[in-house]
Amino acid sequence: MFRCGYDLSKLRLWVGLLVLAIQAGCLTPEDPARSLHFESIVVDGHSDTTPRFEDPSWDFGVRHSLSDGDMDLPRIREGGLDVQFWSIYMGKRDVSGEAIREALERIDAVHEMADRHAEEVIVARSVAEIRAAVDDGKFVSLMGIEGGHIIEESLPALRNFYRLGVRYMTLTHSFHTSWADSSGTTEIPEPLHHGLTEFGREVVLEMNRMGMLVDVSHISDETFFDVIETSKAPVIASHSSIRAIANHPRNMSDEMLRALAKNDGVVMINFYPVYIDEQAAQKARLYFAEHGKVLASIFKDQDIDSESRRRLLSAHFETHPVPQTSLDVLLDHFDHAIQVAGPDHVGIGADWDGVASMPIGMEEISDLPRLTAGLFARGHSADTIRKVLGENLLRVLAQAEDISRALSQTRLLEAMASEDSAGESHR
Ligand SMILES: [Zn+2]
Repeated sequence: MFRCGYDLSKLRLWVGLLVLAIQAGCLTPEDPARSLHFESIVVDGHSDTTPRFEDPSWDFGVRHSLSDGDMDLPRIREGGLDVQFWSIYMGKRDVSGEAIREALERIDAVHEMADRHAEEVIVARSVAEIRAAVDDGKFVSLMGIEGGHIIEESLPALRNFYRLGVRYMTLTHSFHTSWADSSGTTEIPEPLHHGLTEFGREVVLEMNRMGMLVDVSHISDETFFDVIETSKAPVIASHSSIRAIANHPRNMSDEMLRALAKNDGVVMINFYPVYIDEQAAQKARLYFAEHGKVLASIFKDQDIDSESRRRLLSAHFETHPVPQTSLDVLLDHFDHAIQVAGPDHVGIGADWDGVASMPIGMEEISDLPRLTAGLFARGHSADTIRKVLGENLLRVLAQAEDISRALSQTRLLEAMASEDSAGESHR
C-alpha cells in the first residue's frame, strides 16, 4: 500500500512538471493536424454575421457565448481562420432602390467594423493583398453579394459593388430573379427562365471582365449549366454541399461537381445539418412546425431592442436545441467532393450565423481545427488539406484576376482597332 502511494505521487510530480513545461512553451505536444491547420491560409466562403456589424450593442472584438453567435474575433483567432467572405445578404426586395440601399449599408458596416479593429482586421481587394495581410497576422475580410436581385438589373450598380470590395455574387438567393432561376430551399420552384436569360449571361460576362467571382450556390441546376457554358473564368459555389449524400435542391449533383472541376472552380462545403443529413432535415421540419411561430414572433417584435431579441432567441435555443448531425457526416461531404471533383476543387463555406444549427463539435468558428483533424484522420494528404482549407479559393480568385486583365486588354485592343478603321474611312 505504502509503496503504491509513493509511486503515484512521484508520477503526479512528473506529469505536473510536463504540463508546466508545455505551458511555458519549452515543449510542444506533437499534433501534425493542428500545426498544418495553423500554418495554412484558412478561407471560409460564407458567413451571415454581417448584420451584427450594424448593431451597436454587439462588438466583433469581444468574445461571445455560443448562444450569441458563431463568430467574433477572439474565437476566429482560436479557430485559425484567416479569411472570411462576409455575406451581403438580404431577403427579397421588390421596391426599386431598396435592395441597392440596404446592400450599401451592409457593405459600409463591414468597412466600419474593419476600421474599428484596424490593427487586426483589413478589407482586402486582391489575392496579393490577402496573402500580404495574412503574412502580417491580419484577419482578412472579403465580401460576397447573396442574390442577383440586389443589383436591380443595373450593371453600373454591379460595377460599383466591385469597386467597394465585393468579390463574388451569388446569382440568386432562394427565389428567382428577373434573369436567373433559383433552386429554392425547401422545394424546387417552377422554372421561370429555364436557366439564365440573355441579360443573365451579360451579368456573368461583366463579372468575368471585372474579376468578380460568379457564385453558383442557390441557383437551379439549369442556371448552373448555363453559367458553366457562359463563364470565361472558374466559378465557385460559396456554400453548397453534396447531393449524393443528402438529396437537397441546394446541394450539387455529381454531374455538377464534374462540370465544376472541368471549369476549374471550387465547391465550398456548407455545414448546415439540414442540408447535409436527410434525417436531421426531417427532424428540423418537425422542430420548426412546433417552434416556428414563437421564433417568428421574437424576430418580428418591433418593441424590443436587438440585444433583448438576441437574449430571447438564445434562451429559446438553449432550452429547445435545433436538431444537429455528427462531424462525421460533414466529413463525408468533404470526402465525396474530393473524390468526385478532385482535391483542387473543394473548399469551406460553412454558412456561419446563417443557419439554425451546426454539426456537433463544429458549433462555432473556434472548432474549425477539428475539420483539419478529421480530414487528416481520414488519410487526406497535407497538400490536399492545405488546398481545401484555402489555397483552392485563392487560386480561383487569382485566375479571375488574370482573366479580368486579359479581357480588359482585349477590349482595349478592339476599341483601338475600331478607332483605326474609323480613321481609315475618314481618309
Ligand atoms: Zn445562402
